[in-house]
Amino acid sequence: MHPENVALRRAYERALPLIWFVAVSQGVYLPRFPVWLVADEPCELQFAVAVDGAQRLVSTGRIAGDEQRRYVERLTRLRLHQPVFRARVLQAYERQCAMCRLRHVSLLDAAHILPDAHPQGRPVVPNGLSLCKIHHAAYDADLLGVRPDLVVDVRRDVLDEIDGPMLRHGLQEMAGIRLQLPRQREARPDRAALAERYEVFRMSA
Ligand SMILES: [Zn+2]
Repeated sequence: MHPENVALRRAYERALPLIWFVAVSQGVYLPRFPVWLVADEPCELQFAVAVDGAQRLVSTGRIAGDEQRRYVERLTRLRLHQPVFRARVLQAYERQCAMCRLRHVSLLDAAHILPDAHPQGRPVVPNGLSLCKIHHAAYDADLLGVRPDLVVDVRRDVLDEIDGPMLRHGLQEMAGIRLQLPRQREARPDRAALAERYEVFRMSA
């Protein structure tokens, strides 16, 4: 048995909290603290990890019922998958908005192409776009769409509005812009996901 497995087994037996460094990309990690080992699976050479107190209860069989389970799954998505998703997407897009190229990390989000609730709306980089807050919200609200050929479309009624600089420069001038893409081919948006999402945008117009 590997020495690190001995240490992990001891942490499991004593129910000690651990820090988990989740790999975001090569050499880049996102720390998760505290996490607990909730099951030892020696045959598979793995441990099951709980990322919060609520999940710990589910794993030890102390809470039951579909509703609670769904709640815990949602929490896990929010607390574990979303920060990792954001970090991976921002890294792939070199920390800029794919539409307006804004580089203020505190104003950037990882937007889902197919939303969280969609069966294929997984928190993986090809289902993500690095967008600033305003473009993320506008994309989610179908004020903007992204065509499968990666060109931005702005809803007709938004193009016809007359208002201040945020509308003019922030939204209307995005029409016809081609997305800035990650250098790595496998990190680029999934065309099928874009096409499906674009249909939703078109129907809402
Ligand atoms: Zn932007």
